[in-house]
Amino acid sequence: MRKPLIAGNWKMNKTSEQARSLVRELLPLISPYKSVEIVLCPPFTSLMALSALVAGTSIGLGAQDMYWEPSGAFTGEIAPGMVKEFCNFVILGHSERRSYFGETDVIVNKKVKSAFAEVLSPIVCIGETLAEYESGKTAEVVTRQIREGLKELDPAKLQTLIIAYEPVWAIGTGKASSGEGANKVVKDYIRPTLKALFGDSVAESTRVLYGGSVSASNAAEFFTQSEIDGALVGGASIKLPDFPQIVRAAVK
Ligand code: PEP
Repeated sequence: MRKPLIAGNWKMNKTSEQARSLVRELLPLISPYKSVEIVLCPPFTSLMALSALVAGTSIGLGAQDMYWEPSGAFTGEIAPGMVKEFCNFVILGHSERRSYFGETDVIVNKKVKSAFAEVLSPIVCIGETLAEYESGKTAEVVTRQIREGLKELDPAKLQTLIIAYEPVWAIGTGKASSGEGANKVVKDYIRPTLKALFGDSVAESTRVLYGGSVSASNAAEFFTQSEIDGALVGGASIKLPDFPQIVRAAVK
């Protein structure tokens, strides 16, 4: 049984004061849903403040990225151990990192390895661009992103791996994939690739989220699919009442 997971990617929004006030409003609305794992991913600058607010609740925190080295002369970067001070999760390989900051599968792979080394659950984002989708390359792209991004990992250590299937054409566009379409990608390409690389048990137990314009009105369409275990929510994750409604839609 894969526990549903809803992760909110706040992107570059909210000062720490604004983040505190949003979480104070969110907590009573989302914490009753204990059958859903909920992870908030604010900017780094709010993690310390929010970790105090969510302490003692079932709500988890995640970072939106991190560097792979443990420390050193890497100005502006955040190390895995620094993330671990406040979080149990980290989003890696988000399409905005890939397209605006030149992240490659090789870089994603280094980050995924260091996340596991620091006992952080990586939420590894994969997905095809519009041009790739239109030219029928979805299978090729997601398969490559999994093979390269998860290269040389030990299957015995992958219990906390999370994949987010996020078609790039659906992110922030208001044009979500259909539930069936996303489910098919997970069923036909993502789980079979995990199985080929790491075996049956990893393929079956890994939680695969859908991401891309998830809203309060379309969330249920994804959560009723057999292969989709929740969502990585961007824009709607900082909206009320939308985010709590999305969480409620994930209750089985
Ligand atoms: C995201 O940032 O991962 C995302 C899916 O964004 P949105 O929900 O706004 O499309």
